Amino acid sequence: PLANWNGDEMPLDQVRVSVLDRAFLFGDAVYEAIRVYSGRAWLLGEHLQRLRHSLKEVQIVADVDRLHERLARTLANSDVQEGVIYIQVTRGEAPRRHAFPKEPVTPNELIYIKEVEPSPTAAGEPRPGMRVVTFPDWRWKRCDIKSTNLLANCIAAEHAEVNGCDEAILVHHDGSVSEGSRSSLFAVRAGALLTAPADESILPGITRQLVFRLADRIGLRVIEEAVRHETLTQLDELFLTGTTTEVAGIIDVDGRPIGDGTTGPVTAALQDAHHRAVQEWLAT
Ligand code: PLP
Repeated sequence: PLANWNGDEMPLDQVRVSVLDRAFLFGDAVYEAIRVYSGRAWLLGEHLQRLRHSLKEVQIVADVDRLHERLARTLANSDVQEGVIYIQVTRGEAPRRHAFPKEPVTPNELIYIKEVEPSPTAAGEPRPGMRVVTFPDWRWKRCDIKSTNLLANCIAAEHAEVNGCDEAILVHHDGSVSEGSRSSLFAVRAGALLTAPADESILPGITRQLVFRLADRIGLRVIEEAVRHETLTQLDELFLTGTTTEVAGIIDVDGRPIGDGTTGPVTAALQDAHHRAVQEWLAT
């Protein structure tokens, strides 16, 4: 993949960084992942806005407009049509101590463009339904910040994988279900969409927000209310959303089928609306 490392373009495997970078020592960095359709960055403004929020909340000072320019240049030079742009900003390199460095430190800014398989919906094929497991939400209390501290997410994702599943959905100690390890969670109950409110306990998904707009377009009500763990398998439909996940039906939770064990009609309607929204934008 082609990378942009602090403004210089190079192959990703040639980027070198110090072990004293605080991202290596402390996970002291924030990131974004943006989908590329037909060589164009989808929902770019929303992602850059969320990056500004993450940077501000962790007090890393970086120039997002400059990152935007670099990203546009490197995306064009990469020639990637179907892909994902990864952006990471670390606090920078400094002697190891917990409190922030007091001497001026330069953030390390990485962008790279990765090619991905075209979405199945682009080929007019249905996206396969997902099997998920539930797993405790071990994360910290500021999940609205998209930080690279992802150990709890990684452990949950590994638990899903070794159990032959596609994603883990995270359960709070109070019994509410928040989101997936790398996706947002929605349910369908009596024809309305249900999803956890975007407070500090979840990442405010860009695709989640898009689904709100798509739901409005096709006349579905959205209720921001957390799903309860004990009622998960009684819901009409469950689906996940995310930048690379797009809209994906959940067909099985912890070995128990959801609905009739296939992607439900409301989920399918939203998948169709998502596909149309991308096509309409590409036509502009
Ligand atoms: N929730 C978590 C914890 C995530 O890591 C992600 C994506 O990486 C999402 C939700 C989905 O967010 P988005 O739709 O912005 O990709």
